[in-house]
Amino acid sequence: MAQLFFRYSTMNAGKSIELIKVAYNYEERGKHVLVLTSGLDDRYGKGVVRSRIGLSREAVAVEEDTDILDVFMMENYRQRIDCVLVDEAQFLKRHHVEELVEVVDSFDCPVICYGLKNDFSNQLFEGSYYLLVYADKIEEIKTICWCGRKATMVARVVDGRIVRTGDQIMIGGEEMYVSLCRKHYNEGRINGDF
Ligand SMILES: [Zn+2]
Repeated sequence: MAQLFFRYSTMNAGKSIELIKVAYNYEERGKHVLVLTSGLDDRYGKGVVRSRIGLSREAVAVEEDTDILDVFMMENYRQRIDCVLVDEAQFLKRHHVEELVEVVDSFDCPVICYGLKNDFSNQLFEGSYYLLVYADKIEEIKTICWCGRKATMVARVVDGRIVRTGDQIMIGGEEMYVSLCRKHYNEGRINGDF
């Protein structure tokens, strides 16, 4: 039986690198993967999974009205898909997650989703919420805070300061995101300098 996986982490944990590695491992064995990413983040052009270390690969951009089941069935008809990989899974809508469940349950095809769990104000993203509800396996990719403790929070930083209010999704702005432990998130210390 295929399973739905949700592999979550804070920022900069190497999720995209991991996805690219898994895709490569499948393809090396002559298998076919369908790679999806959010259409929201178009900083590097739509439909690209890009990792911080420079590796990238093409992906299908998922828009709000994309029916993932349709995309899967079309690709699977052309060529049997052995695994579906999803980057930026936090940006999925509820219906997208339910479509991925159909891919797993009706087509016996494993689906591995990579994404953030909580946003900068400690709310679950919609995609993460439903992945936590539906996933067969929930796995954490660990990152550390500057202090060495496990990072569990994502801070939005503008001009060197943590910002705790604003829209959940801001793309292409001047902000940056830092992974912190809970203590340093709450204290607002983004590094050990002060
Ligand atoms: Zn810390």
